Amino acid sequence: MKKVYIDKSRCKGCMLCTYYCPKKILIVSDMVNQDGYRVVACTDDERCIGCLSCAHICPCACFEIYREQPVVTGGLL
Ligand code: SF4
Ligand code: SF4
Repeated sequence: MKKVYIDKSRCKGCMLCTYYCPKKILIVSDMVNQDGYRVVACTDDERCIGCLSCAHICPCACFEIYREQPVVTGGLL
């Protein structure tokens, strides 16, 4: 089951999630969104431990993280 969903249309490429992910599976990709930001991608869903660090730190509420069931939608804002 896919664990990491990223709403790339909301991403500002701030890289906070890449710093805080303990598994270092989030990278700034070459993809550019409609606002001209290079957006984040997950390199290996299977290594995600569902810690929610990315969802909590993202200022743009880009993440949905799934374990067996959805556990979070969006972020703090
Ligand atoms: S839930 Fe944790 S391990 Fe998974 S992508 Fe987010 S920060 Fe990384
Ligand atoms: S923290 Fe959110 S806005 Fe910043 S790079 Fe990661 S997904 Fe994009």
